[in-house]
Amino acid sequence: MIIKDKSKLQEKCSSVSIVEGEEIGVRLLHELRESENGIGLAANQIGINKRVCVVNVKEPLVLINPRIVEKSKEQFIFPEGCLSFPDSKVKTTRHQDIVVEADNHSGKLSFSANSKEINDAFECVAIQHEIDHLDGITMFDREFKQEPIVKGVNAPKKIGRNEKVTITKGSESKILKYKKAESLLGDGWALVEQ
Ligand SMILES: [Zn+2]
Repeated sequence: MIIKDKSKLQEKCSSVSIVEGEEIGVRLLHELRESENGIGLAANQIGINKRVCVVNVKEPLVLINPRIVEKSKEQFIFPEGCLSFPDSKVKTTRHQDIVVEADNHSGKLSFSANSKEINDAFECVAIQHEIDHLDGITMFDREFKQEPIVKGVNAPKKIGRNEKVTITKGSESKILKYKKAESLLGDGWALVEQ
C-alpha cells in the first residue's frame, strides 16, 4: 500500500542498519514492480520511516542511508510524477550531476543527466526525488517557479530562454538552454513531457 497522505510524507526518516535496510529494499522493489510505471520508491511511501529508497530505471538500485555528497551548480527542468500523487505532474528543477554515497555501496555513485540517453536523465532525477522523500521533501517543494511575464492577468508561466530543459528524439536526449532547444523542436525533437 502506497501512502498518499502528504502530511505523512513530510517527516524525516531515520537511519537504518544495512541488514534491516536490505529487507526494506526487497519490499520496496516488490512494491515498485507492482506499480504502474513507477521508477522509484522511498521507504516512507510504504509507511516505514527509515532511510532506504530504490530506483529502477536501467537496473534495480537499492540505496541504504544515501547521501548526496556532490551536486553540480548546473540545473535543469524536468517533468516529474510520484507514486504517492498519481494525478499530479510537476515541472521541477534538479541538479544536472550528482555524486551519491550509501552504506550498501563501497564506492561513490555518479549520476548525470547530461547524456545522450534519456534514461540517464530519468535516473538522475529519480535518485534526487527519492532521497528528497527520506528528508520529508516532495516534488512540490522542488517546483520550477518563475515570475510570469505579465501581459494579461492570466498570462501563463513561461520557461525562460536561458533555463535548461531536456529534449528527446527517440531514445536520444539533450539538455540545453530553452532558446537553443526551441530551434530543434519541430525537427523531430520534443520537450520531455510525461
Ligand atoms: Zn515520489
